[in-house]
Amino acid sequence: MKSVEILEVGPRDGFQNVAEYIPIETKVQIIEGLLSAGMRQIQITSFVSPRAVPQMKDARELAEHCVRNFPGVDFFALVPNLRGAETALESGIRRLSYVVSLSGSHNRANTSRTHEESFGELVHILKDYPQVEVCLDLATTFGCPFEGKKSEEDVVPFLKPYVDTGIGEVNLCDTIGIANPAQVRRTIAAVRNAYPSVELQIHIHDTRNMGMVNTLAAIEQGVNRVQSTLGGLGGCPFAPGASGNLATEDLAFMLTEMGYELRLDIRKLIELARFQSEKIPGGRYSGHLFTIEDGPETE
Ligand code: ZN
Repeated sequence: MKSVEILEVGPRDGFQNVAEYIPIETKVQIIEGLLSAGMRQIQITSFVSPRAVPQMKDARELAEHCVRNFPGVDFFALVPNLRGAETALESGIRRLSYVVSLSGSHNRANTSRTHEESFGELVHILKDYPQVEVCLDLATTFGCPFEGKKSEEDVVPFLKPYVDTGIGEVNLCDTIGIANPAQVRRTIAAVRNAYPSVELQIHIHDTRNMGMVNTLAAIEQGVNRVQSTLGGLGGCPFAPGASGNLATEDLAFMLTEMGYELRLDIRKLIELARFQSEKIPGGRYSGHLFTIEDGPETE
């Protein structure tokens, strides 16, 4: 049986786009619900400036709570700099997504850093914390709100110094939902060809209703770790026009119907997405299944 692992990033990429503060109890309830539906890889927060993203002001408290109360779960967190990495590690997180944007303008908007500064801080993290697992999240891999479309010819040379640091995993992020399946296939093939030892992940926004086809294109190219958010809650606070992510439960349903093994309880995910939409009415959702009254029949 073919297997794919879905990495749930809603508690970071979904929550961060909700303007009104979500009480930490609600965040924990949703994380618990995800665990009870079988989700084992959850990006729980990001360690960023609370001035820039007030929703994430409880990052340390939430991470400490989850690490303490749910042992054995592979929680990971997004960090944009050395300081964020230090705080994440102090709170017990052992896996980091280090975000840098292929587009220099988006990198400045998102992390207040130049490409050189972002790279320098990552080198510092890898040197100071060699035991920590770091995935490089390459934002705007396929296009940028300020600089327009990107191509594999931009991606491959950009990644070279990062691969040289020993980074073993790269997450290709379609931050504004601008990719198409042909571009996804081309980009994956080019990166694989240049850096065969690097593992790839994919993270697609559903802005133009192409979240599912683009993610499927990546899976059919052999990428077996894919990111999505419960209910398709999402956006990007520093990418104008970015709407929801691909919905975890919709993706899980399609893949299960196609014969992939996921070990997720889809009915529970759908119920949880519905619960989330009631608890967080101000969110932007791209999910479909949770809006269907009785839900689909699944095994
Ligand atoms: Zn995203």
